[in-house]
Amino acid sequence: MQCPYCNEEMKKGYIQSPRQQIFWGEEKRKILIIPLGDDISLSQGTFNTPYVESYCCPKCKKIIIEF
Ligand SMILES: [Zn+2]
Repeated sequence: MQCPYCNEEMKKGYIQSPRQQIFWGEEKRKILIIPLGDDISLSQGTFNTPYVESYCCPKCKKIIIEF
């Protein structure tokens, strides 16, 4: 995948978490950190090893995730 900012090739990798899920939400929560309402689940993987494939441009410091 080419970086949309600088057009250089991005590095494929994985965003990973020691928690159960990775999700995107409009609000940052301090408690009840689970997907709710319109939140978008990003992660695959088994219990406690969630991951999502992503592309990183170290030059622009951008990461692109497809969900
Ligand atoms: Zn870039």
